[in-house]
Amino acid sequence: MKIVRYRFQGEEVYGELRNDQIYKIKGNIFDKFKITSEKIALQDVRLLSPVKPPNIIAIGVNYKKHAEESGHNLPDKPVIFIKATTAVIGPGEDIVLPKVAPDEVDFEAELAIVIGKKAKNINKDEVSEYVLGYTCANDVSARDCQRRLDKQWARGKSFDTFCPIGPYIETELDPDNCDIKSRLNNKIMQDTNTSDLIFDTAELVRYISSNMTLLPGTVILTGTPEGVGFARKPAVFLQKGDIIEIEIKGIGVLSNKVIMEK
Ligand code: MG
Repeated sequence: MKIVRYRFQGEEVYGELRNDQIYKIKGNIFDKFKITSEKIALQDVRLLSPVKPPNIIAIGVNYKKHAEESGHNLPDKPVIFIKATTAVIGPGEDIVLPKVAPDEVDFEAELAIVIGKKAKNINKDEVSEYVLGYTCANDVSARDCQRRLDKQWARGKSFDTFCPIGPYIETELDPDNCDIKSRLNNKIMQDTNTSDLIFDTAELVRYISSNMTLLPGTVILTGTPEGVGFARKPAVFLQKGDIIEIEIKGIGVLSNKVIMEK
């Protein structure tokens, strides 16, 4: 099932997407809900980010080739960092190059896990009961802040608009075997499969839950594969007017345009 969030008659609501029609959901998607027969065409609504996360937990260095291109050793446990929830935008919204750090803004295609139920200290074989589904994310990163100017990553990863997610939450997906790509102005930049993850999705949820409570709606970004902009020769960074797309087979395409902060 594909879950969307959208604005309808001034209200933010959830729906199920089926054959380009959205069927309105009544109730709470993290608890009890019902899919109604009230429908609207996908083309007639503006999709929002499919979830408003209470926390965004991100994983660094979780694909071997990306570890190589970034000059990191392979981690023996997941590397956790946090992105500000104020960075979230939805499909079709603009990524804004911040005035204070516009020059080295990079893209990172990532599979995102959406937690469905409060989780703490869960076992790996229980994880599927706690996951609502999966969506696409772009872990947009100001590399100058992340890699040179600051001692840690919070600022470089958390500028407003630096966490596009969407377009849908897919509840039926094999998260550890799906093709993942990024395209910059139609040119493929990253192209691999989540089977290359160092720590698979269930291990990430288990591990994070052994450290902190995962609330319903929490989004976990599972790390990016090789091909990001800063590791290219010459380096490629996002420019005003660019279109950056993240595509995960079985979910869909998350597309965002890049603009400059006014
Ligand atoms: Mg990342």
